[in-house]
Amino acid sequence: MSAPTTTGTTASHPAPPPAIFSARALEVAAERARTPGSATGHHFNAAGAALPASVTVETVIGHLRAESLSGGYEAAKDAAPALDAVYARTAELLGARPEEVALVESATAGWHRAVSALRLRPGDRVLATRSSYVSSALHLLSAERDHGVRVELLPNGPDGAVALEALETALRTGPAALVTAAHVPTSSGLVEPAADIGALAQAHGVPFLLDATQSLGQLPVDIGAIGCDLLIGTGRKFLRAPRGTGLLAVRRPLLDRLAPEAPDVRGAHWTAERSWELVPDAKRFELWEAAHALRLGLGAALADLTALGVDTVSRHLATLATTLREHLAELPGVRVTDPPAAGGAIVTFVVDGLDAGAVQRELARRRIHLIAVPAGHGRWDMDPRGLTKVVRASVHVYNDRADLDALVEAVREIVSLHGTPTPPREPARRSSAAVPAPAPVTARRGTRCRDAIVVGLGVHGSAALRRLAARGLDVLGLEQYALGHDLGSSHGATRMIRRAYPHPDWDGLVDTAYRAWEELEDAAKTRLVDITGGLYAAPMDRPDPLRGPGCRQVGPEEAARIFPGLRLPAGFGAVHDPRAGIIDAEETLRAQLTLAERSGAAVADRTPVIGWEPDGDQVVVRTADGVLRTRHLVLCTGPWTAAQVPSLAARLTVTRIVNAYFAADLAGPLGPSGLGSFSVDLPQGLLYGFPATGGRGLKVGLDSGPAWDPDAPRPAATAAELALLAEAVAQVLPGAGPVTESLTCLYTMTADRRFVVGEVPGVERALVASACSGHGFKFGPAIGEALADLVCGTARPDLDFLSPARLLPGGAG
Ligand SMILES: Cc1cc2nc3c(=O)[nH]c(=O)nc-3n(C[C@H](O)[C@H](O)[C@H](O)COP(=O)(O)OP(=O)(O)OC[C@H]3O[C@@H](n4cnc5c(N)ncnc54)[C@H](O)[C@@H]3O)c2cc1C
Repeated sequence: MSAPTTTGTTASHPAPPPAIFSARALEVAAERARTPGSATGHHFNAAGAALPASVTVETVIGHLRAESLSGGYEAAKDAAPALDAVYARTAELLGARPEEVALVESATAGWHRAVSALRLRPGDRVLATRSSYVSSALHLLSAERDHGVRVELLPNGPDGAVALEALETALRTGPAALVTAAHVPTSSGLVEPAADIGALAQAHGVPFLLDATQSLGQLPVDIGAIGCDLLIGTGRKFLRAPRGTGLLAVRRPLLDRLAPEAPDVRGAHWTAERSWELVPDAKRFELWEAAHALRLGLGAALADLTALGVDTVSRHLATLATTLREHLAELPGVRVTDPPAAGGAIVTFVVDGLDAGAVQRELARRRIHLIAVPAGHGRWDMDPRGLTKVVRASVHVYNDRADLDALVEAVREIVSLHGTPTPPREPARRSSAAVPAPAPVTARRGTRCRDAIVVGLGVHGSAALRRLAARGLDVLGLEQYALGHDLGSSHGATRMIRRAYPHPDWDGLVDTAYRAWEELEDAAKTRLVDITGGLYAAPMDRPDPLRGPGCRQVGPEEAARIFPGLRLPAGFGAVHDPRAGIIDAEETLRAQLTLAERSGAAVADRTPVIGWEPDGDQVVVRTADGVLRTRHLVLCTGPWTAAQVPSLAARLTVTRIVNAYFAADLAGPLGPSGLGSFSVDLPQGLLYGFPATGGRGLKVGLDSGPAWDPDAPRPAATAAELALLAEAVAQVLPGAGPVTESLTCLYTMTADRRFVVGEVPGVERALVASACSGHGFKFGPAIGEALADLVCGTARPDLDFLSPARLLPGGAG
């Protein structure tokens, strides 16, 4: 490679040229034309996963196609020269020899294999910089806890980079087994002085492992000049290669001394009953099975980078990032959090009074894509700087000044709409050794107070958020996990809707529910409910059969005519509900959240509420990131409701439910032509289900399961649970094949199987909607509307039969 090598010190960075588009500058328009993703929005997440060039994508697809036509082994044989070239290109990029390069699945995989090969022993010292990435830190801390390894954290100097004197002192103190640093951390634009670290490690004969995950592709990296013995990197970030690619370089002579902890057939030859020989090169760290298409994609991305020149790319990125940093720093209410030693393509900042995740979401609504980095991804770096989460913008060759302007203007708008007046600023950069001040336990009066905060974004929370935002309220939705997670009650593909209920009390709400679905479908411009008709079967002598407007009892013969796929046991009858159907559950959640955000709702996922309390005419809500204020709190916390409303805890039971898909022919009687939504009250329990659709088979579940702590690990369905389901299926659904897939889910139950919707007993400004007892999805949009009414002061006497107070001693029954 012709690029000049950097020593990795900030001083060695080329100073940004005066204009971005100088004669020697990169041709951004050409790069954008070669990067289809650049037309879909403003992408500032190269430090997460950059947009690949189309040549990379085509290379991957081309090899997958070759595998499909000639077979995986045969295609690999044909591609052998190209696969070999990937090693050569990687070596060229790093200034290494091809035999010193291993291609692995991720930087973390490379780290594990390299560090475990060092065979660290009790008492061994590892000197680590504060820039270390979470996965490296967790591995080192585990080694410390489990194997007595001593992890010594090196302090930072005033510029935020590692204090080299401290490293030198630590190396002088006694022998060390490893020095490790991240060249560029995940949590800021810092560039560690890699070559200076390498020189010190070399002088003391200590191996140096450089995590170049965030620097490869954005900075010239030469392992000889830097003096590192081990280097790990990933494809997906600044190299613009596919996800699932990574690399590990191990320089000689260390390579000859390191044996992987668990070699496989790629890394070793099994020579006799109890002996084997490692291959002589770094492939000893590889596994035989590999995604060849992705590796070829990595090769294409490397070729692309080489053609552009790392120095050209690096200069472009540094110029953009410097400009962005300057412009963001000028915005009132915005604080750039990069340390003085920043210099690469990453810019981090926070907005006063606004969670970084909320900033990310607000920007995403404007098609500006970046990421919020929580302290949990870089605690050694962020904790001492008092940062809980930062917004991270990272640029690449497809970004230009128009992108920067869009981002800066969007942040300005977000600050004016959602931020708080800038409090007196802390000193611009605290010493990295400073201990963070403890977070305040109560929010100051005067911090922004929302009209409403909705906690929990399952079907009910997302519905409430949408309806509140549609009324023009300033509303925020908080979800403890990632949106669309599968740990609560609302995940999975389908839910049943029916008019048939055991008691007329439900009829009004059922009508409201059907209207609410129509309204949601109109707003979302998509079909969410498929009316299939439903049959609900039970022994003829059951005392409380389902009933409902438009429903009627049918005998076994008529039932067989309605749903030929369902065979009722002798003595069974069924209620036919012609308006019953199947809800697309996943699409419903997506639609409600999209509409909520479109109406101006803010959403913060991965933000658990850890407590709340009324405070006069407001409610204080505590999260790990800080304290919020709202005039109304709406708790839609599903199985976690007991933790939020302890007065109801004794009345709520959470159970774990198993669902499974059984193989079935889509065109046969178990498909939509022979079946709709159904349930059968069998000795094994109430079996309910849906016809085979979309190639996934017939979906069924039993309506009961063991009591479960929602925070406990959730094991997959057991063989016994699936056998019980299969037994029930065999009884009434002839032709069903074996189980193809299973999932678990939680019900939150009350003794009367009715919900709790209304005021939290004794707390005027807090509402709760939960305990949906296994049948609440169909009411989601209607309950969202009802909660919005209650927040806005509109009485909903139709919901009195679901009042939380009814469950408490003396409550209306
Ligand atoms: C297997 C199964 C089948 C079902 N079939 C049907 C059916 O056919 N028809 C029907 O109508 N209903 C059905 N139901 C019931 C229906 O799915 C549920 O009633 C409904 O999904 C409950 O939604 P929710 O929003 O109340 O709860 P959830 O979907 O569990 O949402 C609660 C949310 O709150 C979040 N949360 C909790 N605590 C906190 C906190 N402290 N901070 C931040 N966030 C928090 C959780 O992470 C979760 O995302 C079924 C349920 C299951 C499990």
